[in-house]
Amino acid sequence: MIREAPTFEELIERRHELLAPCFAQDWPNLPVELAAGVYLYDSWGKRYLDFLSGFGACNLGHNHPKVVAAAREQMERMVHAPIGVSTPESTLRLAWELGQIMPGEANMFFFGNSGGEAVDGALKLARYVTGRPGIIAFLGGFHGRTMGAISVTTSKVRYRSGHDPFIPEVYFARFPYPFRSSAPDPESCAQEALQDIERLFEYVIAPQDVAAFLVEPVQGEGGYVIPPRSWLLALRQLCDQHGILLIFDEVQTGFGRTGELFAAQTFGVDPDIFCLAKGIANGFPLGAIAARREIMQAWGPASHGTTFGGSPVSCAAALATLQVIREEGLLENARAQGAYMLEHLLGLKAESTLVGDVRGVGLMVAVEFVRPGAGKEPNPEAVRRILDRALEGGLLLYPCGHWTQTIRLIPPLTITRQQLEEGLAIFRQAVLEQAV
Ligand code: PMP
Repeated sequence: MIREAPTFEELIERRHELLAPCFAQDWPNLPVELAAGVYLYDSWGKRYLDFLSGFGACNLGHNHPKVVAAAREQMERMVHAPIGVSTPESTLRLAWELGQIMPGEANMFFFGNSGGEAVDGALKLARYVTGRPGIIAFLGGFHGRTMGAISVTTSKVRYRSGHDPFIPEVYFARFPYPFRSSAPDPESCAQEALQDIERLFEYVIAPQDVAAFLVEPVQGEGGYVIPPRSWLLALRQLCDQHGILLIFDEVQTGFGRTGELFAAQTFGVDPDIFCLAKGIANGFPLGAIAARREIMQAWGPASHGTTFGGSPVSCAAALATLQVIREEGLLENARAQGAYMLEHLLGLKAESTLVGDVRGVGLMVAVEFVRPGAGKEPNPEAVRRILDRALEGGLLLYPCGHWTQTIRLIPPLTITRQQLEEGLAIFRQAVLEQAV
């Protein structure tokens, strides 16, 4: 018997029967049917400014015409080509192009489909190349949901609960979080965090057994926490001293978000291995591991692999993405609009006692909310109300932070001053409306 297919509205009603709750039960479940640039349109035609950019994947805005055209052109020629069995031009060309622009001579690549996969692969690579088991990751970090990536993720314990045992030989040290540190200044906060690593080396795992440090140069999901540069430099020095590999998870920071192509450039610290995804192909699924040739070529034939990774369509989209970043001067725009946004939000901090901290680098900006009074107590309830209010006003924002106490503002790097002002006005009103 052929049943009549349900309408979109009926499907939305039934989404909880159809999709796993861990997949679909989030906020705000907008029934979006159309997206263009910085705007999303729901099925009733309401327009939203998207200051989430598809979790930071659509750095050029939704459906950038040049990216869509490049993908379409590739699709008409060839959709799928498993690498090794075939060598599609767009995949090779992307490796070449990225090799020209990656910091630290990271000019050899493995392409996958997502951030979590890139992290899993980078952990495998680091162990394989060094012959050492240990991985040191940082508290509050987020690296994805695959088994390897969740084993190094600690931004919220509920992501981990019930999924153990995790991969062994993973250790955690503090990530410097100046706003929530008892240290008197960011440099002392960095020193305290480094002492954790010294303690690990002294009591728990010898440095010669450590394959890699895995770190987000700016923590994303964990709350847009920006470490002092001196801490990242010290990690680099520890790596050089002990033959440990430095892995930067630039899944969220990469491709212009921090106002440079990579946060490695923002901080002037080069890792040995990069994990890349999200903004790489402006919404097309693609992930990458990048490393210097001497590291990557140790990963011999068949030691890692993938069916879909390095899809010619996603790679064509990635090539167009890089071209648009260059042609449209998007790094400059990210820096200029980011500086304007920070200034505006610092003004808001002066007006509202709910705002505990405003921080950002490039267009990776966040506001941390506290309960007014002493103690910087996290205020997730205010965040929830502000998010709802902003959405009603036509602005999509999303929280982050260990207690869900922080709101990230990550519009596309293509945002104009006028669109930014429009979004900031909605946000400002939503914050100031909250009874303290
Ligand atoms: N690393 C970081 C820093 C991320 O922000 C994310 C996703 N939020 C991931 C890894 C995982 O990426 P994906 O969801 O594509 O697996």
